[in-house]
Amino acid sequence: MAGPQQDYYEVLGVPRDADTKAIKSAFRKLAMKYHPDRNKAPEAEEKFKQIAEAYAILSDPHKRAEYDAHGFAGVEGFSAEDLFSGIDLSEIFGDSGVDFGGLGGLGSLGGGMFGDLFRHHGQAARPSRGRDLQVQVTVPLEKINRGSEEIVHFQRPLQCPDCNGSGARAGTSARTCEACGGSGRQVQIRQQKKDQGRVQVQQITTCPVCHGQGKFIDHPCPSCAGSGRIQKDDKLKVTIPPGADEGMALRIPGHGLPSDEAGGEPGDLYVIVRTAADPRFVRRGADLWHNVKLAIPDAVLGSKIRVETLDGQVDVKIPPGTQADEVLRLRGKGLVKFGGYGRGDLNLRLTLHVPEHPSDEERKLYEQLQKLQKLQKLQK
Ligand SMILES: [Zn+2]
Ligand SMILES: [Zn+2]
Repeated sequence: MAGPQQDYYEVLGVPRDADTKAIKSAFRKLAMKYHPDRNKAPEAEEKFKQIAEAYAILSDPHKRAEYDAHGFAGVEGFSAEDLFSGIDLSEIFGDSGVDFGGLGGLGSLGGGMFGDLFRHHGQAARPSRGRDLQVQVTVPLEKINRGSEEIVHFQRPLQCPDCNGSGARAGTSARTCEACGGSGRQVQIRQQKKDQGRVQVQQITTCPVCHGQGKFIDHPCPSCAGSGRIQKDDKLKVTIPPGADEGMALRIPGHGLPSDEAGGEPGDLYVIVRTAADPRFVRRGADLWHNVKLAIPDAVLGSKIRVETLDGQVDVKIPPGTQADEVLRLRGKGLVKFGGYGRGDLNLRLTLHVPEHPSDEERKLYEQLQKLQKLQKLQK
């Protein structure tokens, strides 16, 4: 970058005591203006990077404090991923029609135009991380309620042991692509005129002959079909925290895929918690729902019923005059709330049981009741 770096507050045009809302709004306005898809001015892309960098620092309270206290020295050494992983662009730009995913940067992190953001500060780019893995674990309600340890089974690609990852059948070897010397890339050097004299521009593209593979495999390894990788069963014990929410993702650092680059960190494993279907209860957040069928006399006269909860059976009083579809709430009889904030409720939805085949004795009583009701109607 030419010249000294511009103050982040100045870049966004906000005062030093601006709140998060003002910072977000300034970033949104400037990013829409300088987005390279919209603004074809030669300096737009550089400007856009500055804006994104300023926003990444100032929108994070910790990084902002470091910057306030120590200036650029306080925020040196962040990778593009460190900077942008906490930023939810869809929340900021919504359906503005600006495609940030296509930049291969902010959205997906890592490489692209943001990968080299911090080379301005003299750091080399870190080798890229391996990909993250995702696996689901289905946990019964009782275990969600008290927390548990579950063995999670998943498949993880490993280097094929039969060909040592080369993809070529044992005894054969892959042919190196002559066009690119095996690198999978083509480097073109062009001379370009600039204000003061000429500059060399290096352009790197994917090799069109091998499509980036760098080699040709004439006899593929049968164990891995030439891919050099096999799927291996793996398992891991994970701790399910009490009250884990439906769909909650537990991050297990370093248990994802290995990096393709030497020295790169492996990705993470995300374990998604799913609530097992339960014949008794339906889960909604920390609340549980259960249907209870009441006999008509119990609804009319009131009664006591025994219902099952996660903590065993309890007796519940049904008040006289209970209507169909009324809900009785048993406070604190639901699931433990995640984070230790008490418990949800058990909601009993009361429905009425109308007997289809009453006994003779029951029939007589209902007939008597019917007669009585007709009589009462006449008297009114
Ligand atoms: Zn193989
Ligand atoms: Zn090639």
